[in-house]
Amino acid sequence: MKRRTFIKTASASGLACTIPPIFPSFFNADYSTEELMGKEEIELFGEGINLREEAYTSFLAMKKAAYSDGFDIKIASSYRDFYRQRGIWERKYLRFTEEDNMTPLDAIDKIIEYSTIPGTSRHHWGTDIDIIDGYPKITGDVLVTEKFEAGGPYEGLKLWMDENSVKYGFYLVYTDNPRRRGFKYEPWHYSYAPLSIPMLTAYRKLNVLKLLKKEDFFGSEHFTTGFVKTYLQDNILDINPTLL
Ligand SMILES: [Zn+2]
Repeated sequence: MKRRTFIKTASASGLACTIPPIFPSFFNADYSTEELMGKEEIELFGEGINLREEAYTSFLAMKKAAYSDGFDIKIASSYRDFYRQRGIWERKYLRFTEEDNMTPLDAIDKIIEYSTIPGTSRHHWGTDIDIIDGYPKITGDVLVTEKFEAGGPYEGLKLWMDENSVKYGFYLVYTDNPRRRGFKYEPWHYSYAPLSIPMLTAYRKLNVLKLLKKEDFFGSEHFTTGFVKTYLQDNILDINPTLL
């Protein structure tokens, strides 16, 4: 779903100032720096779901539809604030540098295969989810690519999502396009486009390099201008093009 589609929906609903009935938040795209970096307390909806209201409502509708088709969509992760992301980052950084004896730069490269730099996560926005199917009983880590592929326990859910998620505004972010750079393929990570597209647009206007330079967490002293620029280009912007 492209931006243009939303605008068309809006003008089809009548007067220019009429709030479009489907995606009201699209026109209320005023997000603060703190909010975009996961540092502001935002209102979240749904126990164990934790999404912005509009994303939550649409998620519930999708969950119901999936349920009647035999899949029990469960949230593995949704909203995560800056401080939790910092905890994840620092734990990995210490493990890689101290236990695995990696150099700081190698450790950072390893972390950003799957984890974001605090302040740059889409999970800060209340629009993105990592999901699994609650029905199959599985052992070990759940967010593993093979589990969503042919023969894996979440294959059915993934196929259902391929067919249906966009009807509810949810799009895969880190696709399996081999030419895509940045984060690896994440068949579990979906974003509620009607909110996350305007949020990414607002995020792109921030001076993330300057903002990250003000932060002080393990490894952040090794961020160079070149590294952050490449990271933003590859990890933040080289995503499913529908979400840009
Ligand atoms: Zn995720």
